[in-house]
Amino acid sequence: MRALTVTPGVKNSIKLAQIEQPVPTASQALLRVREIGVCGTDMDLNQGFYGEAPPGSSYLVTGHESLSTVESIPKNSQGISKGDLVVPTVRRPDDCINCQHGESDMCLTGNYKEHGIKALHGFGSDHAVSDLNFLVKVPSELADVAVLLEPMSVGEKGVYQAFKIQERMLWKPKRVLILGAGPVGLLTTYLLRLRGLEVVVTATRTKDSAKARLAERAGAVYVNTMEQPLQSLGKFDLIMEETGSAQVAMQATSMLDTNGIMCFLGIYASTTAPEDIGEFYKDVVLGNKTFFGSVNANINYFRMGLKDFAEIEKRFNGILRDTISARISPEEFQKAYEQNKDNIKTVIRFNN
Ligand code: BGC
Repeated sequence: MRALTVTPGVKNSIKLAQIEQPVPTASQALLRVREIGVCGTDMDLNQGFYGEAPPGSSYLVTGHESLSTVESIPKNSQGISKGDLVVPTVRRPDDCINCQHGESDMCLTGNYKEHGIKALHGFGSDHAVSDLNFLVKVPSELADVAVLLEPMSVGEKGVYQAFKIQERMLWKPKRVLILGAGPVGLLTTYLLRLRGLEVVVTATRTKDSAKARLAERAGAVYVNTMEQPLQSLGKFDLIMEETGSAQVAMQATSMLDTNGIMCFLGIYASTTAPEDIGEFYKDVVLGNKTFFGSVNANINYFRMGLKDFAEIEKRFNGILRDTISARISPEEFQKAYEQNKDNIKTVIRFNN
């Protein structure tokens, strides 16, 4: 079968290879992969910055954002059968208490595995396998957009956690700042607009770019920070940092309002900054401010995302469909890895 593979640690190793079809174990489903999405983590894997092959394998099949049709599945209590559309979650638990309680996204040890990223093959191949307990069944009405569910789950977790943490007091947020208009930034924008919040999205593309238009279509304000400085945008109750730029993240910390909360969702490269940290800590204390990080998402956030997807498509008139900027064949995979200013989310289609 065809598989998009990388050799972890080796720059530009991505290729379309022929490998053996996987054989499911007694607790796994065999999936016929429809499509995968390509994201920043996949770029980092191809840069050799990140990733780990499964034990005994010299390569890693990429692809952690996916949608599949179930080809075979053992008897299960989740109501999933052959022919169903499913999105598998990414992370698989180890034996720590969080993992054993369904929160592998909060793994204590770091010994979790991640499909397509860490020690487990991903879904970027004609067929793939996943443990049946980590499959989310997708209604056929959402078939065209469900490949976006994994990045949505990351946004859902960040937002859910922020509101959960803020139960520490009476908190009625009004203004949200979303740093970055990549797919997770846009999906978080749709989600928070659905919740009725005032959302400002910042990025470096022009006001007439596809990303800016999508943000505005969801009723958010889009700001090109090449034209208008970040600091001029005022204060915010919630800041979602989704650029992955440590510099942008640092600049934005002073834009958090009293009692506000800021969520970091990027994987930041090592960066030193000359900021006055005394002033920063004073501001954190005197303003009761909270800063937290969030990674990955367990199956509950995928389920939340699915509910919101149905609502978002209706409310913003097919906005999720338009967030997928290109669908290409596995043979054209290089296009997904090229820098392209019109790209939002490229999807690679393996099978119908
Ligand atoms: C994925 C997460 C994963 C993280 C770190 C992200 O791109 O969406 O599921 O935990 O990378 O590996």
